[in-house]
Amino acid sequence: MINDKSVSLEPIKSLRIGILGYGNQGRAQALNLRDSGLDVRVGLRPGSATRAAVEDEGLQVAKPSELAGACELLMLLAPDEVLEDVYRDELRPALRSGSAIGFAHGAALYFGTWDFPEDADVFLVAPAGPGVELRDRYVKGGGVPAVVAIDRNGSGSALDKALAYAKAIGCTRAGVLPTTVREEVVIDLFGEQTVLCGGLTELVANAYDTLVEAGYSAELAYLECVHQLTITTELIHRFGVDGMWDAISRTALYGSLQRGPKTISPESRDQMKETLRRIESGEFFAEFLEDARKGGTKLGALRDAARRPEMDATGRKIRALFGLPERPLDGDA
Ligand code: NDP
Ligand code: MG
Repeated sequence: MINDKSVSLEPIKSLRIGILGYGNQGRAQALNLRDSGLDVRVGLRPGSATRAAVEDEGLQVAKPSELAGACELLMLLAPDEVLEDVYRDELRPALRSGSAIGFAHGAALYFGTWDFPEDADVFLVAPAGPGVELRDRYVKGGGVPAVVAIDRNGSGSALDKALAYAKAIGCTRAGVLPTTVREEVVIDLFGEQTVLCGGLTELVANAYDTLVEAGYSAELAYLECVHQLTITTELIHRFGVDGMWDAISRTALYGSLQRGPKTISPESRDQMKETLRRIESGEFFAEFLEDARKGGTKLGALRDAARRPEMDATGRKIRALFGLPERPLDGDA
């Protein structure tokens, strides 16, 4: 684990840093870099509606090609599915010699075709958390952990630059782990698809449906199976899975140990292996990219199929009951 004290900002202190995109990660990283005293500007498409928000923060806005021409370090924080095209069409022709190019997630890099100059540095600094969290914790003096990997070391000091960058956005305060691009990509995609986003939502929604279909109170079903998830995840976060078992009642322990392995069955395990195979082979990302290039109709259909207006309405009632305000996801929360 690499920590804050062992990393210096020096390798990137005199570089002009260009952030492509001002969304979840772009906004948080640009503001953290600025507050770390670095020279940062933001690249946006001409006519971008985000321009005013960037300028309100006192940051300069440039077209992507101008960004590449002006900066010695470019961080690519537009959506993964556009990065390869934007780089090839707008950034590459204007690139300065000896530039460093950074990614916050490696899928576009790992599965794409990239024409990097011989002398370029290419690195990954992947924060393990959403932009809102990255910004929020930085402001409070902390940070979110990150993994760092080097894809190309044209200057001989790519790792020093990547670590300095991780420090500037606050990640070394929480700790940084070295990895490879392949490992970051496979683990990140697998984790979100099977557990964090895909698996978890299916698990809670199916449990909720089972209770409601059997005639039980929707509100209580939501409270138990969805809303209170954070209590268990917090226990696991602090004490590990084994510690969580020790913190619950013997009744919960007996029933859970008996029924958990039936809920996630050998068939689920086979599906996990298939998910991993689709990620490793590049099948998943190629399919995602092809859909995005055609306008994202498959993604839109999947998103629509996943809507559960009835469960969501119940969730809103529960949150109101507990006085939890509904608020937009972006911004300094
Ligand atoms: P967002 O979807 O939030 O990025 C949106 C920004 O990208 C907007 O400013 C948008 O411009 C700009 N943009 C979109 N298309 C283009 C284009 N063709 N040319 C130039 N700019 C464009 O992305 P995320 O922040 O979610 O993801 C960025 C990277 O960070 C990805 O690699 C992702 O995997 C990684 N990552 C994301 C995390 C997250 O929390 N979301 C967590 C860890 C890593 P406009 O404002 O004009 O619409
Ligand atoms: Mg991810």
